[in-house]
Amino acid sequence: MTKMNVYDETTRQDSPLKRKNVETELFGQAVSRGVAIGKVAWLYGQKRQYYCIDLMENQIEGELQRFRIAVSLAKRQIKKIASQTTESTRTNKTSILDAHLLILDDKSLSKKIADKIRLRKVNAEWAVKVVTETYIADYKSITSTHLRERYIDLEDVSDRLLKVLGGEKPDFLLHKNAVIVAKDIKPSSLIELSESSPKAIITERGGWTSHTFILAREMNLPAVTGIDGVLQQIETGDEVIVDGYNGKIILYPTEMNLREYKIAAKKFKSVKVESLKTTGGKLKTLDGREIIIRANVDSPQNFLKAERVGARGIGLYRSEFLFNQYKDFPSEKEQINAYQKIARLVAEEAVQIRTFDLSVEHLTGEHSEKEQNPALGLRGIRLSLSLTEQFRIQLRALLQASAGNKIAIVLPMISDVSEIILAKKILQEEKENLQERKIKSGNPLLGAMIEVPAAVFTADDIAREVDFLSLGTNDLVQYILAVDRDNPAVADWFRTLHPAIIRAIKTVLTAAENNDIPATVCGEMAGSPFYAPILIGLGATVLSMNVNSILRVRKIVSGIAFEETQEIVKTIEKCKTADEVEDMVRNYFVEKWSHLFSSDILPPRKS
Ligand code: PEP
Ligand code: MG
Repeated sequence: MTKMNVYDETTRQDSPLKRKNVETELFGQAVSRGVAIGKVAWLYGQKRQYYCIDLMENQIEGELQRFRIAVSLAKRQIKKIASQTTESTRTNKTSILDAHLLILDDKSLSKKIADKIRLRKVNAEWAVKVVTETYIADYKSITSTHLRERYIDLEDVSDRLLKVLGGEKPDFLLHKNAVIVAKDIKPSSLIELSESSPKAIITERGGWTSHTFILAREMNLPAVTGIDGVLQQIETGDEVIVDGYNGKIILYPTEMNLREYKIAAKKFKSVKVESLKTTGGKLKTLDGREIIIRANVDSPQNFLKAERVGARGIGLYRSEFLFNQYKDFPSEKEQINAYQKIARLVAEEAVQIRTFDLSVEHLTGEHSEKEQNPALGLRGIRLSLSLTEQFRIQLRALLQASAGNKIAIVLPMISDVSEIILAKKILQEEKENLQERKIKSGNPLLGAMIEVPAAVFTADDIAREVDFLSLGTNDLVQYILAVDRDNPAVADWFRTLHPAIIRAIKTVLTAAENNDIPATVCGEMAGSPFYAPILIGLGATVLSMNVNSILRVRKIVSGIAFEETQEIVKTIEKCKTADEVEDMVRNYFVEKWSHLFSSDILPPRKS
């Protein structure tokens, strides 16, 4: 039987590069600034992600015990399900469950997993995943359809075991100085892994506006993406340098490079501390236009940091991070607590909480089914309006948390006013529902994310239905230019300064102004010192960004004149291509504002 699996450990060990251990530089896309040196921690899997942990000799017995307990718990779960079957489903269901029990009783499978734990000294999750994947690959290569289908049972059993293991976390996490390496990393995995303070991230997939890298920048974790085949070239424990300024990684670094990069890594650490100096007062351009900087944060700790660098409230709270944290929809009570906590901290400046911007992919269990184009699928407001029970729970939680607190609700992925009208109706019904039950609620403002091209063309109508607009430039660029924001292969087409984007932003900001409502720009564009002046020239007065971007943007804003930004916008409005716009902007920056840029934030060559 053939055994073909890119994650196969033997394939990796046979890699010519690995055998020679020669220093190798690989280039990708820099998605979070900084430099770090560390040891590779390999993250495995797509749907759920697992990492390989090197165990100490004295941890192996405990890990084997964890695995044995997981097997017996999984068996107990299956027997319980079998006992609950009804007469009509008995035959089919029990035969499947019997097959699962047989797999769990299979001595050779358990021995292989136990051997992997014992001999390779790795954690049980990793051993289960690697061994079952090999079996699954073997089954998939069988020609007999009947036998081939057995891989599905094996997948089920493997998932069950991993779930059971996940319920009881090992008391060790990533090794010290870990550099996480993966095909791609889910934001929830990064949040989980952040507990063990990794040093940097390397992935094959992802882009500047991927949620994972937005988080990485928030955590000050250097990151490089778009390094194809990186997983075949390194192993857990290998030393690697990550240069998040130049989008470069160095495998098997020489002593000389290690010495040089250690100095750079040390410098990066001190910049992190420096960036948290307190800054206060109103932020104005040289000619007196006030610019409000808000923060994109999801946790109270990050808001406190943001406040120290002068953020005025939260311009974007991505509530789906709660979903990541709870690995499912949080209950009404859990949501009320989270929203109240953040709103109380933010106080007068208000928090703009976006309702769950989830896709079917995020969901587990009965809702999950694969979509061909998740970015164009059932996500954001569309998903909320299809799972109305969950949407109602979230709106009830937001209404209750708004009692005595300044909360504004933002609806993601709006493409039509009818979605807003429907959301408003549901909000009103839930308000009445709470009133009938004599439960206190507030009157949150309601805003719409403008990130779908249809919303740009109808921005005027939308502006008449809501209290404020929120410009999501990450998705706006993705959808207007039809470029997957998570795919490094098309990163060169992700042109933030494309003339179509400039015109779209202008249309939206003008619609807000004409209807006398505020507009916040909250995509990653707002946090870039290179793009912020353009946004200001286009009329933006509220920019919401990652905590770690605030000081850089403040410095630029206070060093330029609004008049200058209008001048540059007038010039670029005549351009026909993204290249032309970028060249114009770069020249202007070099000529007029180069003194405002330190060497690590030189204007990028490509958007
Ligand atoms: C955006 O699309 O610009 C945005 C702010 O939302 P997200 O990055 O969460 O999609
Ligand atoms: Mg978006």
